[in-house]
Amino acid sequence: MEKGVALVFLGAPGAGKGTVIGFVSQKFPLAQVSTGDLIRAKIKADHRFREQVEGLMNQGKLVGDDIVEGLLREALAKIPAEKGLALDGYPRTPVQAESLEKILPEFKRSLKKVIYLNVSEKTVLQRLGGRRQCRNCNAIYNVIGMKPKREGVCDKCGGILFTREDDKPEVIKKRLKEYREKTSSLIEFYKAKGLLFEVDANKEATDSAKAIFKELGVQ
Ligand code: ADP
Ligand code: ZN
Repeated sequence: MEKGVALVFLGAPGAGKGTVIGFVSQKFPLAQVSTGDLIRAKIKADHRFREQVEGLMNQGKLVGDDIVEGLLREALAKIPAEKGLALDGYPRTPVQAESLEKILPEFKRSLKKVIYLNVSEKTVLQRLGGRRQCRNCNAIYNVIGMKPKREGVCDKCGGILFTREDDKPEVIKKRLKEYREKTSSLIEFYKAKGLLFEVDANKEATDSAKAIFKELGVQ
């Protein structure tokens, strides 16, 4: 893929954004930027930050636009120009979508496509309930579908797998509500710009990746 490209991955919690990006980046030199991972990393490193945002996250609410934008800029500054960009979890509000239009050119990137992973609520509940994440490298597994070879241990780095606080059933419901209220309007926003590509993401992540390769013209 050409230099300076950015792809946005849009979809409800549990749509499989991170997993699908993992597959797509096996064929393209794509750097994945997940704002959720950035926030969790900062929480681990900075206890004042933790006090500020952990409560919100554990209630399934969004963190403030300014905070997330700051973390995004820091992350983008570290990515080499020749790498494409896969944004996971940003933008999540119309305000963030507007900000992104300013941020990308500053980092010499342009938005090529918004990949919308469309999933049913049933799929979401199944996936998030069984989701486990590596504490060390953030890889995602699932106790139902994508099990690690050794229970509780990351295949990639040997790190310990954990269940995120916000993957508890009560919190999942709130996250879905936040998604419907704040993020889902971005689908129309990007459709109107002619940038949206919709994928049925109820199947395997490899199927979603295949559809995306076809759309991007890769074998
Ligand atoms: P998922 O996509 O499964 O909901 P994420 O890891 O993307 O999980 O996000 C987890 C939490 O991090 C969100 O519920 C929210 O509190 C916070 N977060 C992540 N990205 C953003 C963002 N762009 N704006 C505001 N909050 C965010
Ligand atoms: Zn790992």
